[in-house]
Amino acid sequence: MYTIRTAGLKGLGVFATTHIPRGTRIVAEAPLVTVKGEREVYGAITRLPQRDIAFIRALSVNAGNNAISILDRARAAWNLISTSTLPTPSIVRDYSALLSAFRNNNFDLGAGVQALFTEISRFNHSCIPSCQGNFNSALGKFTVHATRGIEAGEEMTVSYLGESGVALREERRGRLWRGFGFWCGCGICDEVSDDGGSEGRRTGMRDRLREFAMGSADSNGRGHVEVDVLGELIGLFESEGLGGRELGMIYLSVAEKHAHLGNHEDARRSAARGLRIEETCVGSDSPLYHDSVQRMRRMSMQLTDEAP
Ligand SMILES: [Zn+2]
Repeated sequence: MYTIRTAGLKGLGVFATTHIPRGTRIVAEAPLVTVKGEREVYGAITRLPQRDIAFIRALSVNAGNNAISILDRARAAWNLISTSTLPTPSIVRDYSALLSAFRNNNFDLGAGVQALFTEISRFNHSCIPSCQGNFNSALGKFTVHATRGIEAGEEMTVSYLGESGVALREERRGRLWRGFGFWCGCGICDEVSDDGGSEGRRTGMRDRLREFAMGSADSNGRGHVEVDVLGELIGLFESEGLGGRELGMIYLSVAEKHAHLGNHEDARRSAARGLRIEETCVGSDSPLYHDSVQRMRRMSMQLTDEAP
């Protein structure tokens, strides 16, 4: 379904070898190593087989983070002492290199656990990605699903920004530069290819959200405005081709707002749409999806209770 090959300046990337329909599970991978907190990183990595350690050393490293600070070196020495390893200068250097590789390539699995993966670490970033990664705690694996149809030969991307909402270009680029050491040139970050479309839409949406946050309508009036604003946010996501879990979650919120306002049909429609999107992004075997199904079941029980 995919191959890993060079993606120009970005290093390696993941490319589709066939047409991949939306909702396809592209990867389900168990972590190479998991840690709870950075002080566990060095010990956990150095206990791995040599082949895996070599893989981690070769992972991309943020040029900025690579210049490990004096504070980091002091912390490295302290962590090594506390795990009874003698902190010689070469071990401290090695510690810093592995920590750097870890910081730039780890995924957050929730509950304070961070992990490194082999295949998944090869996905490059886009602010309008074609795929999304989520941890599936029932499988103990990180999955990547296609959030839209992908053509054969196309590079597949995920977003490194997590839930980025309606972040503007400068903010996204700043976060990516500081966190991952690259200047994003994706379809909406590149000024030429974006043509002002996304940036303009997002600026308008942010103004609308700010207006709403400062609005003073009574709670019922506010409920209607809230549904409208969330509807506009959905419109923005859909016009940008963002089909990730974040969109599904907005639909579920809209469903609950509609239920609260007594719009039963709209509530059911939004719930169904939100659940379908989430299933596409995480799969029907994911506890995240099951939680959302339960959440919508509770909502629809309230609708039935209220029915005359
Ligand atoms: Zn971008």
